[in-house]
Amino acid sequence: GRKFFVGGNWKCNGTTEQVKKIVATLNEGQVPSEDVVEVVLSPPFVFLSMVKDCLRSDFQVAAQNSWVKKGGAFTGEISAEMLVNLGVPWVILGHSERRALLSESNEFVGDKVAYALAQGLKVIACIGETLEQRESGTTMEVVAAQTKAIAERVTNWDDVVLAYEPVWAIGTGKVASPEQAQEVHCGLRDWLLTNVSPEVASSTRIIYGGSVTASNSNILAHQPDVDGFLVGGASLKPEFIDIIKAAE
Ligand code: 13P
Repeated sequence: GRKFFVGGNWKCNGTTEQVKKIVATLNEGQVPSEDVVEVVLSPPFVFLSMVKDCLRSDFQVAAQNSWVKKGGAFTGEISAEMLVNLGVPWVILGHSERRALLSESNEFVGDKVAYALAQGLKVIACIGETLEQRESGTTMEVVAAQTKAIAERVTNWDDVVLAYEPVWAIGTGKVASPEQAQEVHCGLRDWLLTNVSPEVASSTRIIYGGSVTASNSNILAHQPDVDGFLVGGASLKPEFIDIIKAAE
């Protein structure tokens, strides 16, 4: 079976005081055991060490980005090697905000995923269509092309979690319906079956992101191909604990 996975993407939010408060709240929360759910928090780079050091031992941390190749003269970037050196196990790559606002292409994201994996990081790779693409009926084509750019560069999928995040659902309060999420997750699993292997298709976790809350997480979690969540806004609130409980 695929272990349920709940990621909390804090994006570009938080002060030292807020981060301490959030971590203290999460540290007290009652959640299912590590055998049932994998929980990964992703604070901004500047808070990574702090969160890692004061976080409960059954939760892990992720960076929100890493550089596409070995570090060097790349002002403002953080390399995968640095994250490994810091003891950060995970990295989020290809988030739609970076694809859209910083023009990260499918190929660039694929290169980043391959490089991060080669350094020993585990990767939450994000894909998803815009509202325009959904309305023009190209959702599956778009997410397949995004996945293909990763699949062409990655041989071992053990350390990859695929996060389906429809852009129209991110930060909008317009969560995908359980049927909409299931349809794309199932389509992605079929794509992996045809283009990668039956093993990768059945073992790779495909998680959903976009306006996930405590009130919609249970029904989404019951979809057969939804293996967890990547939570934005609600991951900064005590509600995140209730979303983790949807694993049960
Ligand atoms: P929201 O949960 O705020 O919609 O954000 C989702 C997301 O982008 C997680 O990476």
